[in-house]
Amino acid sequence: MSTLLLTHRACLLHEPGEEHPECPDRLRAVLKALDQEDFAGLIRDEAPQATLEQLCRVHPRNYVEAILGIRPAAGETVPLDGDTIMSQGSAEAALRAAGAAVAATDAVMRGEMRRAFCATRPPGHHAEPSRPMGFCLFANAVVAARHAIAAHGAARVAIIDFDVHHGNGSQACVERDPAILYASSHQWPCYPGTGEAREKGVGNIFNAPLSPGADGAAFRAAWSGTLLPAVDAFAPDLLVISAGFDAHARDPLAQLRVREADFAWLTAELCGIAERHGRGRVVSLLEGGYDLEALAHSTAAHVRVLMRA
Ligand SMILES: [Zn+2]
Repeated sequence: MSTLLLTHRACLLHEPGEEHPECPDRLRAVLKALDQEDFAGLIRDEAPQATLEQLCRVHPRNYVEAILGIRPAAGETVPLDGDTIMSQGSAEAALRAAGAAVAATDAVMRGEMRRAFCATRPPGHHAEPSRPMGFCLFANAVVAARHAIAAHGAARVAIIDFDVHHGNGSQACVERDPAILYASSHQWPCYPGTGEAREKGVGNIFNAPLSPGADGAAFRAAWSGTLLPAVDAFAPDLLVISAGFDAHARDPLAQLRVREADFAWLTAELCGIAERHGRGRVVSLLEGGYDLEALAHSTAAHVRVLMRA
């Protein structure tokens, strides 16, 4: 069965400013990489906009409406915090990023596609229920997980987050929800400061902090040792991956030394768990990754495994 690639040109029009690392060129680099011949087999479609109902399964209505109400004039920006900045195109980009997560979930849960990758921005895993943060406006992975449960009757969804930063937002959204497991490896100490191993939610949160300088072997050991067994034991009906590639050795925002082959290895392990418990269903969402070359190569390695594993 096929792998779906969802994206939308509106995601290029979220422009947080010239010096901002979360820039439109990131998505251009990813899309260029996925234009190579290896990826001719991807089924490509445009990301729809998420609805208020879908977003309000995760965020309070007044938060969603406040974010969508921020529409700066052309060329102007509105900072929500030190590094989360909205431009004229940001609201639609955020709706497309969350909408891609929903549409990917629909396609995979209906059995039309086995896997889906959403090449979208802004990312989502730092967005808390009522607070934008860390380049993120809506918690896209949690929107996908809640949609799988509400619209498709999934009993258990696992959110897998290998972005180098802890997904404080995703964790905050699900830490009292036993139907959703959240498993993350991340550099610690590092932004945003959360993600210690003792943060366990209602027994559904699994954090594996990694020291600055940790390499691919340490990354694989964290997943093999604690995180993957927890995900496997949870027996999820669907895996939602927060696929950030800023744990890569070349990334300028953190100090881990993970490589493309490590991302490919973890992707294959996750596909194996999905096969055992969830008919192979995997939805993957682009999160961080700020060295354009490393981001392009790592995304290609990840999607290649999604297509074949
Ligand atoms: Zn990150």
